[in-house]
Amino acid sequence: MRVRLLPALQDNYMYLLVDEESNEAAIVDPVEPEKVVEAVKQEGVKLTSVLTTHHHWDHSGGNEKLVSLQQGLNVYGGDDRIPALTNKVSHDDKFKVGSLNIQCLFTPCHTSGHICFYVTGQDGQDPAVFTGDTLFIAGCGKFFEGQPDQMYNALINVLSNLPDETKVYCGHEYTVSNLRFAEHVEPSNFDIKEKMSWAQVQRSKDTPTIPSTIGEEKKYNPFMRVRVKSVQDHVGQSEGIATMGALRTEKDGFKPKSAI
Ligand SMILES: [Zn+2]
Repeated sequence: MRVRLLPALQDNYMYLLVDEESNEAAIVDPVEPEKVVEAVKQEGVKLTSVLTTHHHWDHSGGNEKLVSLQQGLNVYGGDDRIPALTNKVSHDDKFKVGSLNIQCLFTPCHTSGHICFYVTGQDGQDPAVFTGDTLFIAGCGKFFEGQPDQMYNALINVLSNLPDETKVYCGHEYTVSNLRFAEHVEPSNFDIKEKMSWAQVQRSKDTPTIPSTIGEEKKYNPFMRVRVKSVQDHVGQSEGIATMGALRTEKDGFKPKSAI
């Protein structure tokens, strides 16, 4: 399995996912179709599938153009609002791209039809998850069409149960600002400081901070840590779902000191 990051718009990422055995490829959230076609040419792969995490324009807005540029694509997604959708999927649906196994994880909250795509090679090797705007590095998406219990389910019951070594490919480059909030929530968490130093160096070189892993996210992402006492104490709650709701509300209004 090979994953090529394709930066798009201001801070979005598209991902070209290649099965090295068959040379078949899938593209995740192709908002800039011309860039995708160019990358497919450069890599010399056969694009067969579009994986759409959710219907927001900056993720699905390139679908129509891409299917017009390249005939016969399967367009997967979990929401009827996704343009050019050919294969509507729901939780635990499975399909293949070449020899790669794709499993759909229904994670509504940011939008009511959000899907994360969990990908493994043969025998479960090289696990990776494409999380759209549900899980970001050190953060999570806004709750536009859902409630705290749904994000709790997505992050804790679904994504936290993937193997710790699963690589996380998310929809936006929000890492540094997410880590600023994480530092505010848990000022004495050393993993946050360490990730922040690394992320700032990466960004100063204009290098992506993606991917991380599920195991890493459990160490510094406050939204993945809503069962941890230090995170609960910060918002004055004592259980996970209430903590999830309180954290999101706080982050929605959060202005880091350095920005004032
Ligand atoms: Zn979105």
